[in-house]
Amino acid sequence: MSSVAGTTNRVVSGMRPTGSMHLGHLHGALKNWIRLQYEFDCFFFVADWHALTTHYEDPAGIQESTHEMVIDWLAAGINPASATIFVQSDVIEHAELHLLLSMITPLGWLERVPTYKDQQEKLKEKDLATYGFLGYPLLQSADVLIYHASYVPVGEDQVAHLEMTREVARRFNHLYGREEDFDKKALRATRLLGHNVRKDYLDARRRYQEQGDVAALVSGQTLVMNCPRLTVADRDRLLGYLEGVGRTILVEPEPMLTPTPRVPGLDGQKMSKSYGNTIGLREEPESIDKKLRTMQTDPARVRRTDPGDPDKCPVWDYHKIYSDETTCQWVQEGCRSAGIGCLECKRPVIDAVLAELEPIRERARVHEQDDDAVRTILNEGRERARDIARETMDDVREAMGLE
Ligand code: SF4
Repeated sequence: MSSVAGTTNRVVSGMRPTGSMHLGHLHGALKNWIRLQYEFDCFFFVADWHALTTHYEDPAGIQESTHEMVIDWLAAGINPASATIFVQSDVIEHAELHLLLSMITPLGWLERVPTYKDQQEKLKEKDLATYGFLGYPLLQSADVLIYHASYVPVGEDQVAHLEMTREVARRFNHLYGREEDFDKKALRATRLLGHNVRKDYLDARRRYQEQGDVAALVSGQTLVMNCPRLTVADRDRLLGYLEGVGRTILVEPEPMLTPTPRVPGLDGQKMSKSYGNTIGLREEPESIDKKLRTMQTDPARVRRTDPGDPDKCPVWDYHKIYSDETTCQWVQEGCRSAGIGCLECKRPVIDAVLAELEPIRERARVHEQDDDAVRTILNEGRERARDIARETMDDVREAMGLE
C-alpha cells in the first residue's frame, strides 16, 4: 500500500523531558522546530512516557522536568499560536494505539531496532530487560501515526527507526484497509466532491492508474484534501481509490532529514548534562562568560606562541555557528600563525552566545513566574491534539471491527 504522505502538511516531533535545556538542544533541535512551525502544521510533544522506559525506577522528577522543558521551548521561540504543544501522557489515545499496534508488530522488528542493543549496552547500570523498553520504538510509531504526520524531522541515524513506523502503518493498512465494499463506498464518497470536482477526480484517477501520471495523482489528492464536506474516513477512501489501493487508515510518514550543526560541550565531547559540560539556556551571563573563557582549545596550543589548528578545537565549531566569514577567516589565519591568542579568539563567540541567550533568559523569567499560563498552553495543545487523535482512533477501531 502506498503512502499518502504529502497530502497533509503535518510535522510531529517529541522530546524526552530533560529539565532545563542547553545550547546543544537549541541548535540541535529547537532552532529547527522554530523554523518548521511557520511552514508546517507542527505538533511538538513532551515524551514523558518515553522517559519512563529508562527511568521507571525514579519517575519523581519527570513532571518537574516537563514543566522546565516547556518553559525553555517557549522562551526559545516555540510559538503556541503556530504549533500545537502538549504532553504525551495527556493524550491517552497514544497508549491505545500503541496497544493495538503491538498486536500486529512482529517481535523481530523491535529486536532489530539498532538503538535497542546499543542503549542496553550504554545504560548497563539499569535493568532494561523490560517490555516497555523493547516496545518504545512502537510507542514512537503510535505518537506519529496517530496524527497522520506527513513528516518527522530525523537525523541520518534515525531513518531506520522511522522505517519501522512506515512498515507498521503499511502492515496495518494491509490488514484492515480492505473493506469488502470498498469500491462502492469510495464511489459513493465521490459524489460529495460535487459534479465538476468529481469529474476532475475521476479523470485524475484514470490518468494515474492508466499512464502512471504522478502530476495527476497529486492533483487528485489536492482535490480530495480541499473538499471540506468529506469525513476523515471518506477522505482516506478517496485517496486510496485514487491510487488503486485499499483505504489508507494510517499514513506512512516521510523522514525530514535535518542537518544540525555540531555544538560540542566545554570539554570538546558531545554536550550533555551527564558529562557536566553544558551551557544552559537560562544560565547567568557571568557563568557563561567564565565557562567559555576556560573552555578546551586545541591541545597543541600550550603557549601563546604555539600555532594551532581550528579543526582540532571545539571553539571553532562555535565560530562556524556564530561568526561571519571575515571573523572565521581571522580565526583560521590567526590560529594557524599564532597571530591571535585563544582568549582573543573566544571573545566574539562569547559575545554572540550571550547576545543570543539574553532574550531567551528574559522570556523564560516571565514564564517561570506564570505557571498558569504554561498550563493553559499545554491544556489547549492537549485539546487540539486529542481532537485529531480521537478521530484517528475512531477510524482504527472501526477498521479493526472494535466498535
Ligand atoms: S585560536 Fe581559537 S581556534 Fe585556535 S586553538 Fe585557540 S581558541 Fe581554538
